[in-house]
Amino acid sequence: MQTQEDYLAGLLEHGLLFSTGVDGLFGRSALFEATVDGLNALVTKHGDGFNAESVTYPPSMSRVDFEKSGYLKSFPGLAGSIHSFAGDDRAHRDLLADLEAKRDWSGRQKITDVVLTPAACYPLYPLAASRGQMPKEGLCFSLCSWCFRHEPSRDPARMQAFRQREYVRMGTAEQVVAFRASCIERGEAIVQLLELPYHLDVANDPFFGRAGKMMANNQRDQKLKFEMLIPITSDEHPTACLSFNYHQDHFGLAWGIKTADGEVAHTACVGFGMERITLALFRHHGFELANWPAGVRQALAL
Ligand code: ZN
Repeated sequence: MQTQEDYLAGLLEHGLLFSTGVDGLFGRSALFEATVDGLNALVTKHGDGFNAESVTYPPSMSRVDFEKSGYLKSFPGLAGSIHSFAGDDRAHRDLLADLEAKRDWSGRQKITDVVLTPAACYPLYPLAASRGQMPKEGLCFSLCSWCFRHEPSRDPARMQAFRQREYVRMGTAEQVVAFRASCIERGEAIVQLLELPYHLDVANDPFFGRAGKMMANNQRDQKLKFEMLIPITSDEHPTACLSFNYHQDHFGLAWGIKTADGEVAHTACVGFGMERITLALFRHHGFELANWPAGVRQALAL
């Protein structure tokens, strides 16, 4: 199997990705984007019957909501906050002097009310909470968002800026657990259509620190997270391309989201890593679209 460096070099040579000089930050070619678009449409087709409400957010969210989500507690090193200059003429001169002298100028900026979205579903929970008690059948949302995670890597499948396509379900524990099971079936059907090798496994999020280890163990013990793993640059360490997450009442409690019966809502989401699945397609079917299996091209309208 190709190493991460070899596969990255292949992607750049074939003009599928364009380097920015920063690890994990790439431009995408027309073919790469057409593949993402085809995948997006395929996921939408398989979400038929969820009666999901489609919502689109920019790749940034409210800092207050972000703080409330608990993300900084669990993943401080992955977060991306947005800072900006807010000084007067004199402060501006100081900033320019720092730049000129190639000194660290970050202290001249202040944190803004906006952070980069860490996962597509995060801006949805405050929206659902703002609507008050939900209907008996609960809620389902469909969305796709650019997400940011600060984890520079030479592995092309571990980008800092990437897209997550999600379905998010909110309701009773029974409703969201049934939803997650149905998502696993649909996810398998999609990956089979794409003729990609995969296996499903219990997983955990990369919670920070010593307390994080306990959270990760708990997440595994309770089977709260499953991942669909596809080998991209390693058979031994395949890449999580889809994830199926049961948050229990974490977000329901954080925002006071209520079911029709006034109970704290449970939530679950399925996330499709659009870049990762696209990279898996080029890895397994080749850099030349003409060589891809006809069924795969048909499924993606390519
Ligand atoms: Zn999510």
